[in-house]
Amino acid sequence: MISDSPNTILETLECSFLKWRDFSLNDRILVLKDIREKLLKNKREYAHAITTDMNKPIKLAIAEVEKCAYLCDYYIENAAKFLENQEIKTGFSKSYITFRPLGVLLGVMPWNFPLWQVFRFVVPSLLTGNVFVVKHASNVPLSAKALENVFNVDTINFPIYKDLSIKSSEVANVIAFPIIKAVSLTGSEHAGRSVAETAGKHLKKCVLELGGSNAFIVLNDADLNYAAEKAVSARMQNAGQSCIASKRFLIHEDVYSEFVDLFKQKLSTLILGDKYDETVTFGAMAREDLAIELENQLEKSVAKGATIIAGGKRNGAFFEPTLVTNVTVDMPVFAEETFGPLAAIMPFKTIDEAIELSNKSNFGLGASIFTDNPQQLDNYLHLFDEGALFINEMIVSDPHLPFGGIKNSGYGRELSHFALYEFANIQTVVVK
Ligand code: NAP
Repeated sequence: MISDSPNTILETLECSFLKWRDFSLNDRILVLKDIREKLLKNKREYAHAITTDMNKPIKLAIAEVEKCAYLCDYYIENAAKFLENQEIKTGFSKSYITFRPLGVLLGVMPWNFPLWQVFRFVVPSLLTGNVFVVKHASNVPLSAKALENVFNVDTINFPIYKDLSIKSSEVANVIAFPIIKAVSLTGSEHAGRSVAETAGKHLKKCVLELGGSNAFIVLNDADLNYAAEKAVSARMQNAGQSCIASKRFLIHEDVYSEFVDLFKQKLSTLILGDKYDETVTFGAMAREDLAIELENQLEKSVAKGATIIAGGKRNGAFFEPTLVTNVTVDMPVFAEETFGPLAAIMPFKTIDEAIELSNKSNFGLGASIFTDNPQQLDNYLHLFDEGALFINEMIVSDPHLPFGGIKNSGYGRELSHFALYEFANIQTVVVK
């Protein structure tokens, strides 16, 4: 079968937009309900695509599909409230704000949560009235096809979502195409810079969800057992391949040894094995080259004096859950994003020092702080340079809450009501 060229796909979507724009919000919500139903009906098939593409254990892949349905539920329930016209009192007889779509949007998407990342970009903006072309990561072709399948339901007879099977080197040409009105990229800093440069040149709106190197801070009054359990999930979930994973563990010196012992012990709660076995919770990384990159970061850090206290070995794409101590700020395991199951652990003496270390990163997605007395943080929270702060919890994405970073983690927000406005023409209407 010969696939359509990107030009043909864009022209088709431009026609779709003119039809989708005329749907009422209620009718768009009915289509989203059909998408949700199809998603859950084919849950296992889509989860299987994720697992085959990028080695995520099937149990986690099923959870990822279910989370996409949960996101649909949130917007089905709340979109009407968030998108209704907003009357403003002025000197005119009537003035209000209304939310119009922009048109055909381009998504450039990563492989680590191949369905979830796309759903959270597409669903809110679909309800605003936009339609989509997506260039998915080249290592998740089955997930890319599954997405095209799920977003095109039988109840409408035109496509609202098309997969663009193009190389990353072709993305700039697509952004330049007049039919594309805006672009959203989730991925690395390098890809973000490139997409933002092209979007800037063509004066197109751009949202960037980039990397992170979140700190996980444990104060000396924290419940250490609980914090260590959370540390394992926060770092090892999805084999550590998450932008919001905690990567740098900053532990008060009074409880450092005890916490490190607990963290090490609790690594045994991870269940390793075949990726299609439904009990397995920890698997190989998505590609061998990514595991080799992590190994290089570890080796360079060890050469500078870091100590491996758990794991540290690689076999193909499989990288053992790894803990590293004697870390300094100039080591790759602290200074760079480690996109795999490796935790860099450091002690600190005061909250001020912990905040200074937490902020000592080019990224700013989020930080977690564990304490028995959250009130003591009231005078400190404003000092963190982060998109999110979670107290006594690991950072998670939740449809109810805005998601996004500052600094080199990008700009713009996904999820919550903010996502409905990112790709909207916030139009002012005045009647004299
Ligand atoms: P990536 O290499 O940047 O790839 C992401 C997407 O961008 C892929 O579709 C890729 O295509 C494309 N791409 C790569 N270079 C490009 C360029 N120069 N111009 C245009 N497109 C380009 O990132 P990844 O390895 O897939 O994902 C890991 C990164 O994403 C990590 O840094 C992680 O923290 C970040 N991430 C951030 C969030 C967030 O919400 N903040 C969420 C998930 C992941 P190809 O596959 O064809 O190269």
